[in-house]
Amino acid sequence: MGTNNEYDAIWFGGGAAGRFGAAFLKAGGLRPLIVEKHGLGGECHVCRCAFENYVSDQASMAELMRMYSGLAWFPEIDLDNISMSKVVEVYRNVGQPAFHDAMTHQSEQQLKIEVAWGEGKILDKNTVEVDGRIYTGKNLVICTGSRPIIPDIAGTDLENVWTYRDHPDVRIDPKKMVVVGGGKIGIGKAAMFAPFNINVTVLEKYKCLPNWDQDVRNYIYGDFKRRKIKIHEGVDVREIKGNGRVEAVVAEIDGKLAEFACDAVMLSIGLTPNSEPAIPLGVKIGKNNEIVIDKSCRTNVPGVYAVGDVAGPPYFMAVARKRGMITAKNIMGQNTRWDDSLPLPDHIYLPPLEATMVGLTEAQAREKYGEVVVIRVPWGPRAKDHKPLTYIPNLENQGLPVCGRVHSLNLFFYGENRNGLHKAIVDPKSRRYVGFHHVGDGAKTAFQYLSYLLQQGWTIDQMSNLHEIFLNAEHFVQLSRLIAGQKELKGYAAQVDPEEYQ
Ligand SMILES: Cc1cc2nc3c(=O)[nH]c(=O)nc-3n(C[C@H](O)[C@H](O)[C@H](O)COP(=O)(O)OP(=O)(O)OC[C@H]3O[C@@H](n4cnc5c(N)ncnc54)[C@H](O)[C@@H]3O)c2cc1C
Repeated sequence: MGTNNEYDAIWFGGGAAGRFGAAFLKAGGLRPLIVEKHGLGGECHVCRCAFENYVSDQASMAELMRMYSGLAWFPEIDLDNISMSKVVEVYRNVGQPAFHDAMTHQSEQQLKIEVAWGEGKILDKNTVEVDGRIYTGKNLVICTGSRPIIPDIAGTDLENVWTYRDHPDVRIDPKKMVVVGGGKIGIGKAAMFAPFNINVTVLEKYKCLPNWDQDVRNYIYGDFKRRKIKIHEGVDVREIKGNGRVEAVVAEIDGKLAEFACDAVMLSIGLTPNSEPAIPLGVKIGKNNEIVIDKSCRTNVPGVYAVGDVAGPPYFMAVARKRGMITAKNIMGQNTRWDDSLPLPDHIYLPPLEATMVGLTEAQAREKYGEVVVIRVPWGPRAKDHKPLTYIPNLENQGLPVCGRVHSLNLFFYGENRNGLHKAIVDPKSRRYVGFHHVGDGAKTAFQYLSYLLQQGWTIDQMSNLHEIFLNAEHFVQLSRLIAGQKELKGYAAQVDPEEYQ
């Protein structure tokens, strides 16, 4: 092991990628060092996953209270004065420091991982300086994460122009907000702010959520329309106007300039990797500013690896942590590569629900397999203007999916078309599933395992043989069992293609 400051690997950045990679290496009997300037666990608990999860839960509660208020036995609940800034104040005071303590305790005390606290500087591929101290390592792993992309337009420096990093610091609720960017972060932010009586408009340059299944996208468009969250697609944002503080967003729509008055802007047009600290090493940088790596997470410089967001999209915890683990294995001499055959599940915060997917969309599946069988509930457009607590005689599609955990039947009985969507896609020739899509509550855990089942070539016959726990958050077992008896898989007889979920 040599002197005290010599390590088997220096993990430069202690976020999701660095913390998990270092832990794996330590568990394997080698000596890692994490260099971290802010907090172990990285941005996840500061302003990303954990923070969004918390805010989304709060927004869900607000939405559900609004939904139930005055119905059946529920009292009238006055939600006129609820506040997003109060929600984030609790996170600032409790969540951020508590997560920080937990991550530090787990890493330093429980796992006995050494941490050099402070802003690190890479001197060469074996040497790092932190706070005047020199550390050497046989390997260097760059895991410095990513940051929000700021568009090159006037006005991004005005007060109340935010990115996800500023969300935990919101002190006064805006009244009217523009979200620039309709990807999963922007759509999630819109769905989180709106329950707090904030008028939200999303401006998207192309189309929202392009990688998601059309049924899920339609559900979201319909849900946003009902909640009066406006979406404009094909809009080019040109300028943010204001006098010290934001007053409007100027955008080009159909060749004409339009102004969207607002008192806050959330920029969510993507992430760019923090690859700059590694550039002096001569590592190859790709077109997204990412450090280019191979499937073993190696850069072009021997002994230098890059993992997590700094290695470019997709920007997921699973990718960051798993690549940390792959790197640790490679450092330990176990030749390990990223396995493309295991599909990545994804999800969107959509309070009071969430959207989740894994595998192919229906359009991708049709392109690959020709005919496909679609198992979907609801199976057609819902009744327009469906009011809570009403049964519509003989209308076959009351919007039955009940995609919920705690609120499964409540969402059906009380919700105005709020009860989600189940969708599984099967290749009828092989009888294998090729994609799963869901809008609901509580199903995302299942998608971790559905990913593995897709990789294994899971068939409708195997699914129908499972033991479901009924009611459940996703109804794939029972819905599949209804047609699994078909010798030639044809699906359900009368299933219409829903144009729009209103
Ligand atoms: C708003 C938002 C929500 C998200 N929600 C989810 C989600 O719900 N689920 C999911 O799977 N993914 C989510 N993601 C993606 C996920 O957060 C990232 O993929 C993940 O955090 C990447 O981890 P990382 O280790 O690469 O980076 P980070 O977690 O950012 O860690 C990088 C670390 O490096 C440190 N560092 C950088 N430079 C230096 C230096 N010079 N010296 C010392 N330390 C340094 C930083 O302080 C930081 O701690 C979300 C992303 C965003 C933007």
